[in-house]
Amino acid sequence: MDASVKKGEWLVALAGNPNSGKTTVFNALTGTRQHTGNYPGVTVEKKEGVCRVDGRTLRIVDLPGVYSLSALSAEELVARRFLLQERPDVVVDVVDASNLERHLYLAVQLMEMKVPLVLAFNMSDVARQRGLEFDLEQLSGLLGAPIVPLVATKGEGIDELKKTIVRCAEQVLPVPAEIHYGQELEEAIAKIESVLDENLPLLRSYGRRWTALKLLEGDLEIQEQIRSPQVSDVLHQVRQHLTGVFRESPEVLIAERRYGFISGACQETVRRTVLKRRDFSDRLDAVLTHRYLGLPIFAVLMYIVFYLTFQIGAWPQSWLENGFGYLAQRVGRFWPEGVSEEIKSLLIDGVIAGVGGVVVFLPNILLLFLGIAFLEDSGYMARAAFIMDRLMHRIGLHGKSFIPMLIGFGCSVPAIMATRILEERRTRLATMLVIPLMSCGARITIYGLLIPAFFPPVLRGPMMWLIYLIGIVLAIVCVRLLRSTVLRGESVPFVMELPPYRLPTLRGLLLHMWDRGWMYLRKAGTVILVLSIVMWAVTRYPRPPKDILSAGEVPPQRLELEYSLAGRIGKWMEPAIQPLGFDWKIGTALIGAAMAKEVFVSQMSIVYSLGGEEDLEQLQKRIREDYSVLQGFCIMLFCLISTPCVATVAVTRRESGAWKWAIFQFAGLTGLAYMITLLVYQTGQVILMLM
Ligand code: GDP
Ligand code: MG
Repeated sequence: MDASVKKGEWLVALAGNPNSGKTTVFNALTGTRQHTGNYPGVTVEKKEGVCRVDGRTLRIVDLPGVYSLSALSAEELVARRFLLQERPDVVVDVVDASNLERHLYLAVQLMEMKVPLVLAFNMSDVARQRGLEFDLEQLSGLLGAPIVPLVATKGEGIDELKKTIVRCAEQVLPVPAEIHYGQELEEAIAKIESVLDENLPLLRSYGRRWTALKLLEGDLEIQEQIRSPQVSDVLHQVRQHLTGVFRESPEVLIAERRYGFISGACQETVRRTVLKRRDFSDRLDAVLTHRYLGLPIFAVLMYIVFYLTFQIGAWPQSWLENGFGYLAQRVGRFWPEGVSEEIKSLLIDGVIAGVGGVVVFLPNILLLFLGIAFLEDSGYMARAAFIMDRLMHRIGLHGKSFIPMLIGFGCSVPAIMATRILEERRTRLATMLVIPLMSCGARITIYGLLIPAFFPPVLRGPMMWLIYLIGIVLAIVCVRLLRSTVLRGESVPFVMELPPYRLPTLRGLLLHMWDRGWMYLRKAGTVILVLSIVMWAVTRYPRPPKDILSAGEVPPQRLELEYSLAGRIGKWMEPAIQPLGFDWKIGTALIGAAMAKEVFVSQMSIVYSLGGEEDLEQLQKRIREDYSVLQGFCIMLFCLISTPCVATVAVTRRESGAWKWAIFQFAGLTGLAYMITLLVYQTGQVILMLM
């Protein structure tokens, strides 16, 4: 990146705690000139944009939101590496001025890294409302960095911020204040500094004091880069000494000193004109995070979100369905004479049916994300995670894992995307890998076909419940397994921050909703388009010879499928799936279902040559004739456990950053589905025989 920075062009990094308004500032600075990508090697999103001021160009990078720079999470590591390796000309730390003391912790760490720092005091409006008054001049002097007050949502102060950035890039500004850690700690730092090898390349970019401080804090990344027995010895010695004197670990002592510094700086420069009273947030928290009320309230809120998603979403969904149906009809009706029928079929049965089948879910997705964005932006989601934290920790996950898992009951794709809220990589991966076990909406089509076919009305509800429960239990078992094998690791100590409640802005909600909805549409336009064409081809080719077709004994659609590649694969698979109670017809439908679970039902109706949904009852009757209740249950079990769709695999690949995990998930779930179905079918048969 350095090489591409030209004269009069400055690299500016935006840092800040999550929810400090960083993204809002970034948008206000860059307008529409922005694009997103990933940081190399990790799946942390990287947003970049350009801002022009007085003929100069500021290239702005939105760093991931972090509370500190201790390199405990992928985000922290990415932010730190970026600062140290890319050497931005200016770092703007966006702080929430209404929560100043907490947010300055990051600022202090930036000061220690000696980056050219500008402090953006965002949320000035909220601070004012709370009766906070700042002596900015004095505070800026104490911290050694210019301060610009902002109300990013209204664009207030943005011009001043731009000017300050340019000034900071072009002139030498005051050196940031240095924190004094007290005699004992300072001595320890000096001791470590004295044994650091002069020639370490690390020291050139990181600085002596900073490196020593990080070592004292127990920073693994730096330790790994040094690997000197002498340094380890000294480190061990000073740590032991400090722990002996203070009965606290050096990390805690260092953090205490930093907070002390901040608190001191604020005491002199921040004034409260309104006496602190139990404010709105506190009173709301007393109810929403209540020991007994918290969970039921959460359940009701989530129910409302799901209700909105699936009930209200049904209207626009039916419009879209009709629209695609109409489109297919028009294309069919007005297909020009003489142009290949094959291309017509490709267009109607492949492209329009396939892509349409995915796009019709867009209203659900948008509504779901609107609801989630509202709960997030208002500050409620942090409370939900807080309530669930203890429960989730017991199974090796994080309170926040709960949210993506819940979304998984709707659709695995947005659920896996939602794991981004998890800071710690291993927790995030574990959550991501088991999300497909949360029975998604697409599988409802399969249960809707099979449950009424095999079970009397009184048992239908309980069956559905049982299937969902099996998924949840399996997810818990798998997480425990993962956390004690491939994803083993201490869970990172973490303070659950409760941000203040805030009324979300419409603009913010729509932006969040659109961001994610667009991602879904892009999927429909790429992955699903290709897959639809592939599915269309394997169920259509090779075609049976005309004379067999016209013999007319077997219905032509069924014959065509039997003859096609999908049918052949189904037959070829038969020996492998027979122990599960499946025959070639189910095998063929399962190939379709591996692409997307919705395909199962349409594949089955082709097998029984009953096109269209009006024949659902007919189809159920035929299935009932061909299979036993046990077989029916096993089909549902297999569909529940195996990967929901190819899009899930693709999104796991993208969010985990490696094919390895996507393949692991796919193979693991398929293997698990096979084993469990095998077990259930064989045991079931033995029991039936004994009965
Ligand atoms: P980020 O996660 O740190 O990037 O923060 P966002 O940009 O997503 O902002 C978090 C929330 O704070 C959003 O709902 C914003 O609309 C809101 N917000 C951002 N800046 C301000 C501000 O200056 N004043 C107020 N009242 N709200 C703000
Ligand atoms: Mg953001």
